[in-house]
Amino acid sequence: MAFWPSVVVATPAHSGVGASLTYRSELLLRPGTLVRVPLGAREVLGVVWDCATTPPEGLTEAKTKAVAGVLEGLPPLNDRWRQLVRFAAQYYQRSLGEVALAALPPQLRDLSNVQLARRLKRRAQASADGPGPAGDVAAGHDLSDEQRQALDALADAKAPVLLFGATGSGKTEVYLQATQRALFSQAEAQVLVMVPEINLTPQLEARFRERFEPLCGAGAVVCLHSGMTPAQRLSSWLAAHTGQARIVLGTRMAVLASLPGLRLIVVDEEHDPSYKSQEGARYSARDLAVYRGKVESEALEANARCQVVLGSATPSLESWHAADQGRYLRLAMPARIGGGALPRLRLVDMNHQPKGAVLAPPLIAAMAERIERGEQCLVLLNRRGYAPVLACHDCGWKSACPHCSAYRVFHKLDRTLRCHHCGFTERVPRACPDCGNLDVAPVGRGTEQVEEQLAGLLADVKRPDGGPARVARMDADSTRLKGSLEVQLATMHSGEVDVLVGTQMIAKGHDFRRITLVASINADSGLFASDYRAPERLFALLMQAAGRAGRDAAQSATSEMWVQTWYPQHPLFASLKQHDFPAFATTQLTERLSAGMPPYGHQALLRADARTQQAAQAYLNAAAQAAVGLPHFEDVTLYPAVPLTIQRVANVERAQLLVEAASRGALQRFLTAWQPVLLQTRSLPEARGLVRFAVDVDPLVI
Ligand code: ADP
Ligand code: ZN
Ligand code: ZN
Repeated sequence: MAFWPSVVVATPAHSGVGASLTYRSELLLRPGTLVRVPLGAREVLGVVWDCATTPPEGLTEAKTKAVAGVLEGLPPLNDRWRQLVRFAAQYYQRSLGEVALAALPPQLRDLSNVQLARRLKRRAQASADGPGPAGDVAAGHDLSDEQRQALDALADAKAPVLLFGATGSGKTEVYLQATQRALFSQAEAQVLVMVPEINLTPQLEARFRERFEPLCGAGAVVCLHSGMTPAQRLSSWLAAHTGQARIVLGTRMAVLASLPGLRLIVVDEEHDPSYKSQEGARYSARDLAVYRGKVESEALEANARCQVVLGSATPSLESWHAADQGRYLRLAMPARIGGGALPRLRLVDMNHQPKGAVLAPPLIAAMAERIERGEQCLVLLNRRGYAPVLACHDCGWKSACPHCSAYRVFHKLDRTLRCHHCGFTERVPRACPDCGNLDVAPVGRGTEQVEEQLAGLLADVKRPDGGPARVARMDADSTRLKGSLEVQLATMHSGEVDVLVGTQMIAKGHDFRRITLVASINADSGLFASDYRAPERLFALLMQAAGRAGRDAAQSATSEMWVQTWYPQHPLFASLKQHDFPAFATTQLTERLSAGMPPYGHQALLRADARTQQAAQAYLNAAAQAAVGLPHFEDVTLYPAVPLTIQRVANVERAQLLVEAASRGALQRFLTAWQPVLLQTRSLPEARGLVRFAVDVDPLVI
């Protein structure tokens, strides 16, 4: 007797291959079984999606290839996992196989059954060697009242929880204790803890290991992130899938790990943009975590749940809005542990500083004073992630779009200003259109070589031990080598370094005890950007950075956050001064509501890469033309194609087209109907030179 499993394999949505392929098998294969199947000349890994007992129409044994092998000893991927994958594929407009296979460690394919059996045995051995669950050994701190209340509310919550806790309020301790409770609620319980970038938070991993390895055994905590070797990834994945790992710490990819006993998902720093994937299936791991929690909860007994906790001092406006609406439960922890105050905000008005100064003299003086007292400073460079907007420093003119509530972006290549919303384009003006000033320049320029400048300006400053002040720089370049991040962090912790200069990465998570001054020297590019999310990111970054100062309560009274700006009157700074995220969020949400922007409106981007800019745009515009009359066409707005801010990468020209809708459902249904049209449009003459296209649902940058 023969069976007819349909198997999903890694075929991208744009390859035009269907959702699954039918094979032949001697055995009845359960859905979720991992198999090796022939595909063209290769043998690939696949997941059985279902298994029919009669051949599908038009197929015969002779026409169908046989399954090459089953990965024995591995339990099938469960229904909840497959539901998660199905949802992610549908929502983000990708193929099932692409999402499913991206979630599996690539090395699985190359493993023979003998090797697999050996690995599984080794893992089982490792976890049997460690101590078993030690019951109710309570480790950790005595909770503060706020932590206790949050933890109690968490236990009863019937919705995802938004843990809105100030930096240093002890959110991690809440995660740890919630994890402990989840683990002991049930013998097979598992917990998923996600962080934006695991390498930046070695402390977090250490805290989880320290707390739970004595309780649950040496193999109980595993990591899952893209910095691991394929072998390490395979090992962690197997541990999670077989239930030997009780806690998975990972980055966004971990949201798709197989975790049959999942009882709690923590998304730390839930506002962080790195939760949104920027390639392949462009999913939001935070949003999938919420969906996953719901699916897992539905499969549990009536009073059990798989709880989802989204934690942040500066939540995303999407999550904040969901809490406003009651879809999420907001739990606030405003106080810092130990009663320390958040640093005082000092705005430096750059209009009143010596011309051309990148670092204002009063800031240098303040830093010198700290160094002489043996305290440390952090200097934050706002990475130029934002599309550059032009401004006149004399009269305040900015390259606003006359048709939209958006700023036009400066495109260096052809010296144009383009609106990324409506496409309106003009040549860059020679002089300021309002006052005639010739010095019209991108907002927030001029921060190159800050490290050297600082070292020069602080050359005569002495530390209490009489030595010269030491300045170090930490960024993606300086920390590329394995272990170098740890070394650099150690020099900061030990006090060897007095001033640390760096990008975003120095603002996140670190628990430095002797920093009393944090300075942001080029924040302005986040105030006026074509990207409507830029102010939200800037606020989050500055709050995070401020959170690095005065973590030692004894020093918190004198700690300061300095911000250099040409726009000290900007309302963002008023909220920042009060450390008032709710006020900031309310203002931003009001603006978003009136402009129909997310979370009130919904967006998707169609992106095209081509050999010429003209071809990329022609494809996009042809696809828009071909959309006329599709279901929900009336409910969406398609804008003209525009080049990306960074228009050419490795000789490939890039363009995008924005789709907007008032309703998420309408946008989803339109995109689903559009998908086959996008494939057909590729073969039109207009699309010659197209390299690839991709849909980005809920894009973070437009
Ligand atoms: P957050 O993640 O909210 O920024 P952390 O969880 O890192 O804050 O806590 C900040 C510091 O306070 C850490 O050093 C942590 O060990 C300590 N801490 C947390 N909770 C308590 C508590 N209940 N009692 C004493 N110290 C605590
Ligand atoms: Zn001007
Ligand atoms: Zn416009």
